[in-house]
Amino acid sequence: MKVMKFGGTSVGKPERMHQVAQLITKSNEPTIVVLSALSGTTNALVGIGESMAAGNREEAKQKIDTLEAHYKQFIPDLVKTTAAQTKAQQIVGEHFEFLNIILKISFSEALSKDILAQGELLSTKLFSVYLEEQGIAHSLLPALEFMSIDIHEEPQISSIRPKLNALLEQHKDKKLFITQGYICRNARGEVDNLKRGGSDYTASLVAAAAQASVCEIWTDIDGMHNNDPRVVKKTVAIEQLSFEEAAELAYFGAKILHPTCIWPAQQEKVPVKLLNTMQPEAAGTVITQEAGSVGVKAVAAKDGIISINIKSSRMLLAYGFLRKIFEVFEKYRTPIDMITTSEVAVSVTIDSGQHLKAIVKELEPFGAIEVETDLTIISVVGNEIAQTQDILSKLFDALTPVPVRMVSYGGSKHNVSILVPSSYKTQTLQLLNTGLFGLE
Ligand code: ASP
Ligand code: MG
Repeated sequence: MKVMKFGGTSVGKPERMHQVAQLITKSNEPTIVVLSALSGTTNALVGIGESMAAGNREEAKQKIDTLEAHYKQFIPDLVKTTAAQTKAQQIVGEHFEFLNIILKISFSEALSKDILAQGELLSTKLFSVYLEEQGIAHSLLPALEFMSIDIHEEPQISSIRPKLNALLEQHKDKKLFITQGYICRNARGEVDNLKRGGSDYTASLVAAAAQASVCEIWTDIDGMHNNDPRVVKKTVAIEQLSFEEAAELAYFGAKILHPTCIWPAQQEKVPVKLLNTMQPEAAGTVITQEAGSVGVKAVAAKDGIISINIKSSRMLLAYGFLRKIFEVFEKYRTPIDMITTSEVAVSVTIDSGQHLKAIVKELEPFGAIEVETDLTIISVVGNEIAQTQDILSKLFDALTPVPVRMVSYGGSKHNVSILVPSSYKTQTLQLLNTGLFGLE
C-alpha cells in the first residue's frame, strides 16, 4: 500500500485534478490518496465562520455565494459528460445547501468545525466524479469514519488502524482509495479537524495505520529547501533527511510540511517523500530513518517567539528550581522551545502568548521576570552537526552583525538554534545562506 497526499494547489484547478488522476494511476501498487480542499477554500470557510461568529449573516451569506460560484465554475472544466456534470452540480448543491442551513442556526464552536469540513468533502467527492467519468475504479473512504482525536486532541492511533483496515476490507476489490485530509471526529463524536495544514498529518497517520511502503506528500515545490526561498535568493532542494532532521525543520518553520506530521510515519518507519506536482520527475526530498550524509543541511526560521527570563539568587546551588518553573508551563499546557540556564537565571522561549499573563504571574514568586516578544528562532539543522568541529565558529563568524539573544546547542545532535529579534530574521537567513552554504 502506498499513500499519496495532494495539497490545495495540486487540486485547486480542474487541470491540476486531471494531472493528479494521472499521477495516482501510474503505479500498480494499491494506493490511498489523501486530498486537501481546493486552494483558498479553507480560508474562505474560516471567513464564513468568522462572519457568522460576529453575527454578520449577510456578510456570511455573501461569502457562501462567492464560494459556491467558484465551485460551479470549476465543474464544466473538470468533467465533460452531462451525467458527470449533473452529479458534480448535485454534490456542490448539497454542500452549499448545508452551509445555507447552518447560516440560520445559532453559531457554535462545533458548527464552525462542520463548516471547515466542507472543503475536503467537496474536493474528494468532485475528484471521485472525475475518476468515475474516466472509468478509473476507486472507492471513497470517508475520513469521518476512521480518523479520530481524543480529549487532548491527539489522534487515536489505536482506533484509526482497525477502522481503516475494516474499511479497506470492505472494498477488497479496489486498488485505489480516495479520502479526505484534515477532517476527523473528536472525543464527543463531533466533526473536527487536525488543525490548519493538517492534511499532511492525515497522510502520515494513514500511512502508519496501513503500514504503507511510502507516504508521498505532493505540493507545488520540489522538496524541502536549505533555506526559505521567500527570504533568500538562491536555495537548493535537500535530497535526504532523517525523521529527526525533518521534524526539527518542519517545526522550526519549513512551511512545506506540517510539523506534527512526521511522527506517525517515523514510528512505523514509513519513508516520507516530498514531491512536486508541477515537476513530477524531480527527485524531491526523501525522509527516512537514515540521514544520508553528515553536515549542515538547512536553516529555518520560526517567528512569534516570546522569551521569558527568570533571575533569582535563590537559584544559586538550589535543586528542584527548574522543576517548579517547568510545572508552571505544564499547568498551562504551553510547550517550551528553547531553554538556557546560568547559575542564577533561566531563559525559556514559548511560541504562544495565550497564557503569558497567567504564566508570568505564577513565575513571579521565583524571581525577577523579564519578557521579550517579537523574537525569531533560527534553527540550523543537519546530521551530527553538534559533532562537526567548525559549525559554531562558522555560525558565529557569519552572525557577527546580529544581536543573538540565546543559543541552544547540544540538546540534539541535529540542531543548533539561535534566538534573534524578528527584525533581524531576513539578515540572519541571508548571512547563514552565504556563511554555511556558500549561496547568495
Ligand atoms: N485544507 C486544510 C487547510 O487549508 C488542511 C490542509 O490543506 O492541509 O488548512
Ligand atoms: Mg499544506
